[in-house]
Amino acid sequence: MRNDKQVVLLTGATRGIGNAIARMLVDKGFQPALLCRDPRNLPALKQQFTSLGLDVWCCAVDLSSRHSIEECCKRIDCPLYAIVNNAGICDVQRIDHREPNNLFQDVINTNLLGPFYLTSELLSKMSRPGRIINIASQLGVEGRAGYGAYSASKFGLIGLTKCWAKELGSEGITVNAVCPGWVSTEMSAQDLERLAHAKGMDVKQYRDEICAPLELKRFNTPEEVASLVCYLLSDEAAGITGRDWLMQTLWNQE
Ligand code: NAD
Repeated sequence: MRNDKQVVLLTGATRGIGNAIARMLVDKGFQPALLCRDPRNLPALKQQFTSLGLDVWCCAVDLSSRHSIEECCKRIDCPLYAIVNNAGICDVQRIDHREPNNLFQDVINTNLLGPFYLTSELLSKMSRPGRIINIASQLGVEGRAGYGAYSASKFGLIGLTKCWAKELGSEGITVNAVCPGWVSTEMSAQDLERLAHAKGMDVKQYRDEICAPLELKRFNTPEEVASLVCYLLSDEAAGITGRDWLMQTLWNQE
């Protein structure tokens, strides 16, 4: 990985918000370094940028495994301008669920411990000034029934954001959390289907119900999240740190 451009390391780059960020990084003149979970997706991810005439470094990592994170970080040998912790999973289970499983641990490992280990492992490889951006969620500032694990992970990620901003500010590294509400991706499509099904409603009808109280009357697009990320990466945002950037009003949901 050798380049004169500022290198931005991004997790969860194959699809959804992550892929939109990766594409916009290129448009804005950054050099993306892309991580994805499944090694089988590496050739297609690389090819997406080769077809644009770019040689992009890509590596597989399982963010729920500290060992996998350490192995991946050993392969990074150039200064990083920024880390964008985007990858995440969403799973639903209420407090009164009695059958034992690993859902809570899996969500916390991926969404909270993953960004923690990755960022702490790479801190010494970051340039000063630098940027850390954590993709949290509106559910990092508000709860929703059934989303205890996800919400706890995102509240935690915002907590880390605010602490790291204080720890790293004097070194010129800004740290911000981006908190989207509903964004049109595979993750939200699955979520929407699950919620609509639980209410016995048609997905389209339920989507309309969700959108009604939102200012924009629609979900955000992955590109809109990417725009905010790219702004926070820009020189113009050098004075902004320790904030959680909500994208639309909280959705009033029990
Ligand atoms: P997505 O499911 O489309 O993509 C998630 C990405 O994370 C995938 O590329 C996946 O491979 C990767 N990933 C998951 N587990 C991983 C692991 N263990 N190791 C490495 N990579 C892993 O989701 P999305 O909607 O694009 O969400 C991206 C981020 O935005 C997530 O952190 C999510 O919580 C957050 N977010 C999404 C929405 C929404 O409505 N879509 C709303 C608020 C926040």
